[in-house]
Amino acid sequence: MKLVTLEDLPHGFLDASARTIADLLPGPTLLHLDGARHPALFVSVLLHGDESTGLVAVQEVLRRHAGRTLPRALSVFVGNVRAARAGVRHLPDQRDFNRVWPGGDASDSVEGALMRDVIAAMRARGVFASIDVHNNSGLNPRYACVNRTGAPFLQLARLFSRTVVWFTEPRGVQSLAFADLCPAVTIECGRPGHAEGESHAADFLDAVLCLSEFPAHPPAPHDLDLFHTEAIVKVPPEISLAFGAGAADLALREDLDHLNFSELAPGTPFGRWRRGAAEPLHVTVGDDGRNRVWEWFEAREHELTLRRTAMPAMLTRSEAAIRQDCLCYLMVRFEADAAPGPE
Ligand SMILES: [Zn+2]
Repeated sequence: MKLVTLEDLPHGFLDASARTIADLLPGPTLLHLDGARHPALFVSVLLHGDESTGLVAVQEVLRRHAGRTLPRALSVFVGNVRAARAGVRHLPDQRDFNRVWPGGDASDSVEGALMRDVIAAMRARGVFASIDVHNNSGLNPRYACVNRTGAPFLQLARLFSRTVVWFTEPRGVQSLAFADLCPAVTIECGRPGHAEGESHAADFLDAVLCLSEFPAHPPAPHDLDLFHTEAIVKVPPEISLAFGAGAADLALREDLDHLNFSELAPGTPFGRWRRGAAEPLHVTVGDDGRNRVWEWFEAREHELTLRRTAMPAMLTRSEAAIRQDCLCYLMVRFEADAAPGPE
């Protein structure tokens, strides 16, 4: 898999859908478009093939500026076009395109080599800011994620939403790799195919494209709700899964995805666990891989409840998403000026 580089917008690009973009782009493609200011804004879309909002947002921004010079150069990485044709996150023979960037465990894979080429190309050209556009399957508000909490990172994220999540796991994600080059953000735009999320993303891309520089000071604390992702919750493959009253090792509550971005009190039920089965969840903090399920959850009789105050994100009722990625992230709230980490 070789990175294709283009300096002109291919004919038909603005009318292609995620399903048809592979007709124009034979593989993962880095597209450089010139503009009035340099260096370029970098935007990655379709790192996950079933998340179309990024492509639609880029098309919308290009349409808005059609026939004129872009206010700033724009480099667009169109990622997993093969998976996009199939309408899936990634194909069975592929690694997840947002887990293979430099700094992760899988960066020496075929897909990882591709991402190294993208980083090398952008490092050589210089880059103003990086935006990675995603959708998610659960009932989440639209929010921005950063890997660092320096002023330009929070200023960039704040332009998309007042809800900002600072995360350091999983590694191997695009925004973590680009954080070494420029202010970088991942935006989560809700479910794919919704016009509201698409225009929100387009407005954000356009606003950053028109920006001459980032303010040097951090956003005021009252302008920002900053959370830190503490734990990643997975369902072990040997644990069978159901929703509601279903018979399984773990029967999650029916309305689980409605808990996203609510701060939950200790004792909040998540579902029922058939005792005797292996540990129902695998909860990791940091990268030591140790299962901390009983630090975060409690089993009262057969009920599995939260042990401490936390705010879940990415909870979904899609078993495929749970199996491929995770059940949820658990976040805790903190003040921006308490946030550690370099610029
Ligand atoms: Zn995604």
